[in-house]
Amino acid sequence: MSAVVITIDGPSGSGKGTIAGLLAAKLGWNLLDSGALYRLLAFAARNHGIDLTNEEALKTLAAHLDVQFIDKRIILEGDEVTDDIRNEQVGAGASQVAALPAVREALLQRQRAFREAPGLVADGRDMGTVVFPEAPLKIYLTASAEERARRRYLQLKGKVEGVSLPSLLDEIRARDERDMQRAVAPLKPAVDAIQLDSTELTIEQVLERILGEVANRD
Ligand code: C5P
Repeated sequence: MSAVVITIDGPSGSGKGTIAGLLAAKLGWNLLDSGALYRLLAFAARNHGIDLTNEEALKTLAAHLDVQFIDKRIILEGDEVTDDIRNEQVGAGASQVAALPAVREALLQRQRAFREAPGLVADGRDMGTVVFPEAPLKIYLTASAEERARRRYLQLKGKVEGVSLPSLLDEIRARDERDMQRAVAPLKPAVDAIQLDSTELTIEQVLERILGEVANRD
């Protein structure tokens, strides 16, 4: 019997990364931050001078990406890039490479390999629809674009220079549009996902709701 999976999908800034991390820690399970893989690919492509529209070269890079996740640190080709991949520019690059079918295919097995005992919490855009369609618990976490931009602003302020709320809102809307409209694995709730709007909820409240669903299934 392979390990059980909980998927948490949703748009950028919905809080799914934070929630997935807390949930995995609480359950003592493994964590897959699938967005980090797309960010790492965009970041590595830039380092190697590969154009973000060059599907063939990106597919090869994705298949051979030398990345290690060590606790909360991310090491790419021997260098720590944990914070470097978090800015909105890398996020936009990630969303561009993520629209390429060959790239998604190349990253599929790598994502599924995170499924190990005792269980996996997987966060992203297509965890419940494409990567782990058989997961018994799927959450689709949303929040208004304004609230998501505000959260991102608070996260980045002081860490990234020149960050502004209106430009973050524009970027978030553009990324939503690209992630939802793409032909392959678009961002959308799985038919059997539980939809949670976190606009008016604290992180603790969202976590409590999900833990309630976990307990219901035990
Ligand atoms: O979640 P995060 O903001 O780190 O993801 C960056 C980008 O990677 C997203 O905007 C999306 O385009 C892409 N992505 C994806 N499928 C996933 C996770 C992320 O297409 N499962």
